[in-house]
Amino acid sequence: MTERVEVYDTTLRDGSQGLGVSFSVLDKLRIAERLDAFGVHYIEGGWPGSNPKDVEFFNEAKRRTFRHARLAAFGATRRKGVQAQDDEQVRLLIDAGTPVITIVGKTSRLHVREVLQTTPEENLAMIGDTIAHLKARGRFVVYDAEHSFDGYKEDPAYALATLSAAEHAGADVVVLCDTNGGSIPSEIVEITRLVRGRIAARVGIHTHDDIGLGVANALAALDAGATHVQGTINGIGERTGNCNLTSVIPNLAFKLKRPSVPEDSLVTLKELSQFVDEIANLRPNPRLPWVGAAAFSHKGGQHVNAVQKLVSSYEHIDPALVGNSRHVLMSELAGRSNVIMKARELGFDVDKETPQLNAMLQRVKDLEHEGYEFEAADGSLALLIRRALGDETTPFSIDAYHVSMRSSGDNSVCEATVKVVVGRDHAHTVAEGDGPVNALDRALRSALVKFYKDLEGVRLTDYKVRIVNSSSGTAARTRVLIESSDAASTWTTIGVDENIIEASLQALVDSFEFALLRKEFAAGMASRR
Ligand SMILES: [Zn+2]
Repeated sequence: MTERVEVYDTTLRDGSQGLGVSFSVLDKLRIAERLDAFGVHYIEGGWPGSNPKDVEFFNEAKRRTFRHARLAAFGATRRKGVQAQDDEQVRLLIDAGTPVITIVGKTSRLHVREVLQTTPEENLAMIGDTIAHLKARGRFVVYDAEHSFDGYKEDPAYALATLSAAEHAGADVVVLCDTNGGSIPSEIVEITRLVRGRIAARVGIHTHDDIGLGVANALAALDAGATHVQGTINGIGERTGNCNLTSVIPNLAFKLKRPSVPEDSLVTLKELSQFVDEIANLRPNPRLPWVGAAAFSHKGGQHVNAVQKLVSSYEHIDPALVGNSRHVLMSELAGRSNVIMKARELGFDVDKETPQLNAMLQRVKDLEHEGYEFEAADGSLALLIRRALGDETTPFSIDAYHVSMRSSGDNSVCEATVKVVVGRDHAHTVAEGDGPVNALDRALRSALVKFYKDLEGVRLTDYKVRIVNSSSGTAARTRVLIESSDAASTWTTIGVDENIIEASLQALVDSFEFALLRKEFAAGMASRR
């Protein structure tokens, strides 16, 4: 039987050093709970010696019980020339009260001399003493051998001596780290295999994605005998990021057929990925393998046609296995199959016998020619399909609007007036905003909530503007994409016009209209995020 691969998550420590990532203590607790529910084996919560926020995290974490995962505190070997028990940073690690402590130490003789500025012998003592001290206090110790591969290439005998020092002191796992992320799989395989032959303790792997090989290197090491893998959710981390666990985990399960996290967790992988992006306040990367929104999207008419007949023709696995789903992208490349699949995905009952099908496809193509792009604007596309199917009713219309801007000194204020008609009623509202679109959004919203209370929960979450050159050779047009969200879902709408305000208004109107009509569209849409 193949040995289970231990998954060690460092999203909260290494991951938090990524560009644009900053977690509060509460954020960290929420992610830790989620990782535990998912079933990773270790959660590295932070470095208590490096900042007070991490000390607070461990104090809070002590009061919670984790079902699957064991919590790890991260720190470094003792300083040179002091006893482990007298080292403040080591004391903070013990105070963190975690069952697991991970210690990083130097493998490279060059780094020992230039960075630590000590002797090779003292570095070996620093590794051994620190681990022995922690083992004597009953901790499970993971040893992260920094720069393992670079250090080995520079001086194999010394690198191996550092690993042996860790093992003899009682380290439970010895983790080879490609700290600079510049190694290639063949080197990883060779060195991991060699270490595996010398070290009786469990061997782990910690890689970075600097040359795009973070996941490949981790899998190579697992193939060469490592049975413990460190990484982060969505690969967040310093520079180009850490080894991405949202790729490693499904690769282990579906490609290498090796057990790691509980099997029934795999269908929640995409959710976990989205959850971490949301807490980190990062825009999800649609091109992430396995869990990205585009991972199973089909655009070319021929691909769509083939996928309809045989899903395996352009999909390596069933997207549902990792909680993802198939999407069809609408575009000028679209054929009838795209329109049918997309309409069905949006909840419309359309098949190849639907009489309005050709008109629908023609309408999409004409609008795309004018500068519209429905690929990312499902909300507007759903409204277009609804109209094409013959339902021209709208929940409201705009009778008139006016936008003005005045500036005095450093201050400028925009004001918008909107007259909205709903059935036989109308509402006339005025609102100010810090820009014309903001003012228009506020005025429109305050008019509409008088009739539709539900719209109070709708927020504008992103606004993108692009200049598109219309093919007719006239003035450049502006394309506006608006992303809106409420508690249940997120949708995007589009507007195109030579005038940016007019384009923005179209997208805003579509957004509110979609919010009001979506109950008509089947559940397929609401579950999409
Ligand atoms: Zn790292």
